[in-house]
Amino acid sequence: MPGRHFLQIPGPTNVPDRILRAMDRPVPDHRGPGLPALVGEVLSGLKQVFQTTRGEIVLYPGSGTAAWEASLVNTVSPGERVLAFNIGHFSHLYADCARRLGVAVDEVDLPWGDGVPPHLVRERLAGDTAHAYRAVLVVHNETSTGVASDLRAIREAMRSAGHPALLLVDVVSALGSLDFRFDEWEVDVALTGTQKGLMLPPGMAILCAGPRAIEAGARSTAPRYYFDWRPVLEETRRGYFPYTPATLMLYGLREAVRMLLEEGLPTVFARHRRLAEAVRRGVTASGLSILCRDPALVSHSLTAVVVPAGADAEAVVRAAAQRLNLALGTGLGRLKGKAFRIGHLGSLNELEVIATMAGVEMACAASGIRVPLGAGVAACQRFLMESHVAAAQTAAR
Ligand code: PLP
Repeated sequence: MPGRHFLQIPGPTNVPDRILRAMDRPVPDHRGPGLPALVGEVLSGLKQVFQTTRGEIVLYPGSGTAAWEASLVNTVSPGERVLAFNIGHFSHLYADCARRLGVAVDEVDLPWGDGVPPHLVRERLAGDTAHAYRAVLVVHNETSTGVASDLRAIREAMRSAGHPALLLVDVVSALGSLDFRFDEWEVDVALTGTQKGLMLPPGMAILCAGPRAIEAGARSTAPRYYFDWRPVLEETRRGYFPYTPATLMLYGLREAVRMLLEEGLPTVFARHRRLAEAVRRGVTASGLSILCRDPALVSHSLTAVVVPAGADAEAVVRAAAQRLNLALGTGLGRLKGKAFRIGHLGSLNELEVIATMAGVEMACAASGIRVPLGAGVAACQRFLMESHVAAAQTAAR
């Protein structure tokens, strides 16, 4: 199909030309003299993106799943207990990863479409008077449901329960799109991949580990070799790695971090908030519903859309791909066939959002869902026009 492919799944996201160009170069010697400057800039830039001065960055060739495993084997030993909340496909898989590594997991089952309730975190931890829980596992932005849990409130709940458990946070579809504050929210480990808010191709796992987690890592008896972060931390301090790094990805990562910091994190977050709101207005005006129940927890990096009873969300995704070359996210796990997902994270602008909304309307209509063509697009446009004027007025004041 001629024209550009619209990749509007909730990651991998579109890779900006500037990043592609930064990666388009001969493969360097990963033990050569050029590496420390590159690695140094990547690590210090990533720290700014995680909003930390006390966290250390750990990199592996891999993906978000690899980062899950690394976050666990370095902090929790087999037989120890962790607390997890099943609020969607990925939070369940993170818990399952821990279980398969021999960790005892208390997984609290909650309705998909909810966030992690801070009062429940407090209650569970307050009830654990023996302090058996080593860690609490939270997915900041649940990519299967489009719900962003309130991490500040979760950390506050842990503090008020007086519990020493580590806070391990999956920021795979949050970092670089949603405000995430490693230091302020006293997160112990945050983990992500390169293919979402960082605007790179898939291929690297990134962790940020705080001092308490690094200390726990020294005590962990979990068998680990590749994912042992101690040699990685030691070697990267000198600008090298204990394995062959994905060198071209490092050039891309440096460029991505430069782009985020040039735009400014507050501006990046505001852009995502505004574009996400435009999508939500469009979806609602089309007569479709948003899965996230609490408007205060809606994700600004993706929207999960519930199709009317009797309709098939898979057919919408198929129609979008086949007729329009538009990739939308399918419903995952128990949402299969019931919901589809619109990704609006990473490098994205107003016209791309409007085109995506037009594609969603057309794909719905093509798969037999009655939507008033143009209503969603118009709502999207109206909001973008009004919010642009409002932003300009605020800036002029
Ligand atoms: N965590 C979340 C929140 C995700 O959205 C994903 C993938 O989409 C993963 C973990 C798994 O990451 P990966 O597919 O990069 O292994």
